[in-house]
Amino acid sequence: MIKLKSGKIAVVGAGLSGAVIGRELAEAGHEVEVFDTRDHIAGNCHTERDRETGVTVHVYGPHIFHTDDREVWDYVNRFEQFMPYKNRVKTTSNGQVYSLPINLHTINQFFGKALRPDEARAFIEELSDTTIADPKTFEEQALRFIGRELYQAFFEGYTKKQWGCSPAELPASILKRLPVRFNYDDNYFFHTYQGMPENGYTEMVGRILDHPNITVHLQTRFHRDWGGDFAHTFYSGPLDGYFDYEYGRLGYRTLDFERFTYEGDYQGCAVMNYGDASVPYTRITEHKHFSPWEKHSGSVCYREYARACGPDDIPYYPIRLVEDKAQLAQYLARAAQEPFVTFVGRLGTYRYLDMDVTIREALDAARLFLSVPAARAPDPKRQAPFLKPFELPPVIDTNLPYPRAR
Ligand SMILES: Cc1cc2nc3c(=O)[nH]c(=O)nc-3n(C[C@H](O)[C@H](O)[C@H](O)COP(=O)(O)OP(=O)(O)OC[C@H]3O[C@@H](n4cnc5c(N)ncnc54)[C@H](O)[C@@H]3O)c2cc1C
Repeated sequence: MIKLKSGKIAVVGAGLSGAVIGRELAEAGHEVEVFDTRDHIAGNCHTERDRETGVTVHVYGPHIFHTDDREVWDYVNRFEQFMPYKNRVKTTSNGQVYSLPINLHTINQFFGKALRPDEARAFIEELSDTTIADPKTFEEQALRFIGRELYQAFFEGYTKKQWGCSPAELPASILKRLPVRFNYDDNYFFHTYQGMPENGYTEMVGRILDHPNITVHLQTRFHRDWGGDFAHTFYSGPLDGYFDYEYGRLGYRTLDFERFTYEGDYQGCAVMNYGDASVPYTRITEHKHFSPWEKHSGSVCYREYARACGPDDIPYYPIRLVEDKAQLAQYLARAAQEPFVTFVGRLGTYRYLDMDVTIREALDAARLFLSVPAARAPDPKRQAPFLKPFELPPVIDTNLPYPRAR
């Protein structure tokens, strides 16, 4: 029988998962050691002031906080003031700028019309390809919903660039609902609470980690052999990496950011997508528009390119295609046999997770851990609460690249 160890808790990763878990355990009286390979905290949400322009930059890509979870909203506001922010995304297609998600303005502008909601609904129905009775692919589903013109302008090229494959190779399940709004609402997210941390995410995570029971070790790669020194490990690093890639590498897309500066306002909005396949990047982020309460004459922008993730690249988006699923099942089986390790976060569970979901799961994981009396043998519930092979989301995640329609 496995005996429960006593002592400190290791938390691998100083991103949102690690910081929130570390804080919960520290407040409950545990001594926590947090490890991160990077030279900064906050993981992929990391923000820093650009030396040249003074603008707060989202170093690993644009991050907008949005949630319906009141407890999570209160939690982040406890550590940082959130400023009102609405995410309004534009897209350039074939030399024209349109509003996203596809809404009444987009439709009227694209087709040179002045339709009212009911007229637009009927018009889109006319455009839809009704010969496709049972859509099997993402492409067929899009054609069935919105017709060829809108599909080509807003989905085809973007998807190829983002995922490195044709929408005809992706399952129809990606596009579950009609991706169109028949009003002028261009707020990208539907969540009740939406905002931006006044001083950036790294300041916020710094305050979460600021507790006398927490020690943070930066530039320190945790290896599973170290687990023996700790009563329990919460691991938010890559699941396959924990097992030294024994069954191969899980598929990810990575991103390259090409930084450039501009004197003035480069594009007039935070995020401009590029739908055409002929433009090699997927979007340009102009970071100063994420902090509209600040004034900066200079501007810093990132051109964003997506590509297959190699061994030395940062894993960004889990692909979760069919071949990854079989590999994932092998890693999940191994993970379930680790009695003193809880796998958490976007890398530890190989899922795309928004920040609010990450925080929710981190709070739940810590509470589950704390709810099991230390004197008992390890409770299987506490080992890997989010690694349930039967709860895999369908094949590929659509959170970021695709607008969500009601
Ligand atoms: C481009 C992009 C844009 C996004 N935009 C949004 C958005 O607008 N809104 C939103 O809600 N969410 C967004 N997200 C999601 C958000 O980034 C995640 O929710 C969040 O980063 C998850 O936090 P985490 O702690 O689980 O993972 P991470 O932030 O990745 O942290 C994991 C940490 O573990 C460290 N690590 C890994 N292995 C080891 C090891 N062996 N030893 C020590 N340290 C290790 C890593 O260095 C990393 O710092 C976006 C994601 C991406 C990729």
